[in-house]
Order: sequence, then C-alpha cells, then structure tokens
Amino acid sequence: MTADIIDGKKFAEELRGRIADTVPAFRDSTGRVPGLAVVLVGEDPASQVYVRSKHKATLAAGMESFEHKLPATTSQEDLLALVRQLNDDESVDGILVQLPLPKGLDEKTVVEAINPDKDVDGLHVISAGRLATGLPGLVPCTPLGSIMLLKDRLGDLSGLEAVVIGRSILVGKPVAQLLLAENCTVTMAHSRTRDLKEVVRRADIVVAAVGRPEMVKGDWIKPGATVIDVGINRVPAEEGKTKLVGDVDYAEAMEVAGAVTPVPGGVGPMTIAVLLRNTVVAAHMREGLTPPAGL
Ligand code: NDP
Repeated sequence: MTADIIDGKKFAEELRGRIADTVPAFRDSTGRVPGLAVVLVGEDPASQVYVRSKHKATLAAGMESFEHKLPATTSQEDLLALVRQLNDDESVDGILVQLPLPKGLDEKTVVEAINPDKDVDGLHVISAGRLATGLPGLVPCTPLGSIMLLKDRLGDLSGLEAVVIGRSILVGKPVAQLLLAENCTVTMAHSRTRDLKEVVRRADIVVAAVGRPEMVKGDWIKPGATVIDVGINRVPAEEGKTKLVGDVDYAEAMEVAGAVTPVPGGVGPMTIAVLLRNTVVAAHMREGLTPPAGL
C-alpha cells in the first residue's frame, strides 16, 4: 500500500489566492487594505529568510506590509515602544515579532505587549485563553494550517482518535486544542510519555511536532491513519550536503498510512498562508466586519 501525499504547497497556494480575492471587498468597505507589520531584531539568517518570504507573500496578496528591522543591540524598552506604536497604528491589523529574539530581550514580555486583536501569530496568553475557552480569536499559524490540511483530507474529524506528539506552546498545545474543538479524542504525548509507540498506534490522526528527525517509524502508525508531520530537521546528506526531514520516517509511513504530509512541501508552506489569513481575519474583526467565509 502507498499512502496519498498531502500537498500542502498546493493547498497553501490556493488559500493565498482566496485571501487575495477578499482584499478588494475589504478595500471597498474601509478605504484601505489589511496591513501586516513584521518586526525583525538582529541578523539571524533563518529569520531573515522567513521575514523576506512573509513580506513578499503579503504584497502578493494585495495587502500592506510594514517591515521593521532593528539591530541586535536594540533595548527591551525600544522594542516595547515599537510594539506599542504598532498597536496604536490604525493601518496595522497584524503584528508579528519574529522569534527567537537576540539574547537579553524577553520574548514573553514582548509578545504579551502586542494587542491581542493584532496577535496574528496567536502566541499571546489571551489568544491561548480564547482558543482554550472557545472564544473567537487568533490561532497560531502552523497549528491552524495543520488542521486545515486534515479537514481538507478527512472532512468531519468528529470522534477520531488523535495523538499529538509534542506539547509546545507554539505547536503541540494549540494543535491539541484545535483537534478537541473538532471533536476528536485527543491524546497529548511528550518526552515523558510511556510506550509512545503503542500510544501512537491508536491514532487515526497523528500530528508529530517534536524536532527529532524521523523518530516516528512505520510500525508506530495504524494502517490507514492520516499523518501530519510538523517537524523540520536539517540532517547530513550525500556529498557533504544537508537536507530537510520531518519527525516521521516518510518512506516507512508511506507504506502504512492513508495519507502523509511530506517535508518539505507539507505543513511548512501553510504557515505563511495562515499568517495572511489571520491578518485578513484580524482586519475584518477590527473594522466590525464579518470575516470572509472559506478562509
Ligand atoms: P519544541 O522543542 O518547543 O517542543 C518539542 C516537543 O517535543 C516537546 O513538547 C517535547 O516534550 C517533545 N519531545 C521531545 N523529545 C521527545 C521524545 N523523544 N518523545 C516524545 N516527545 C518528545 O519544538 P516546537 O514545538 O517548537 O517544534 C517542533 C518541530 O516542529 C520542530 O522540528 C520545528 O522545527 C517544527 N516547526 C515547524 C514549523 C513549520 O512548519 N512552519 C513551525 C514551528 C515548528 P517535553 O515537553 O516533555 O520536553
């Protein structure tokens, strides 16, 4: 048996198209387009690449992109002052402070300074609380992207057994909350879980967000299960090069599962698409408009 490949790249492209389609109507009713502000402190190469991609994708969707690049020596006070300025800026609907921040800056304090209604990364404690209590709010991008792929593949998730491996605030916990909201029976596994293989074998849905290359083997997976691999791990490849692999042994999973997200090209491309989606949703909510259906 060979599993289906869940094409996150294609889904994300289509989602970005649907997002762009909502911009003209928003402009007609408000006289402006949704705006995303991204703050980058320091020169971390991976962060620079992410911020550039976010900028390009925002403009490509017909939205406004505000980039703020600050030196690594920026003080906590100056960074907080910028966040407050963006909170007060009416043309800014979404604020994303690219993490990790350089040493000496307190990520938690900076994230909590963002107006939760502009928290398009969904990492504010109020966003987490809204998600946990079922109130409307902004949800972290990679988790929401994972759920979109699952619903596209499986339709109604009600009653399915879901195992989430990893319990980070960024991925594992919000994924579990979203699955619960979809009426799955959710198990959260982590580094202290006993008999992880047996726990994972129960799952109709496996979401792996661990950061350990190819940890989940084929014989951990129930035949026919849907596997969402959030992991991004750079490992040595031939001729001194490196390559990206997920937390799931892709070749083995393809022999057993019903469907699997590849790495790269699965969950990864969803993150920026959902960031744009969150910005559009935040923009509508701030203007007292109903967010467009189908996003
Ligand atoms: P964290 O390091 O914050 O969390 C990892 C989690 O995995 C922890 O809860 C940890 O458990 C658990 N874990 C570690 N080792 C084991 C083990 N041997 N068995 C079971 N559980 C284990 O990582 P993140 O959640 O931030 O990211 C997870 C992966 O997802 C990474 O590869 C990251 O690169 C990727 N990622 C991809 C994104 C994208 O596609 N755009 C976005 C964000 C992340 P414990 O809590 O007990 O320590």
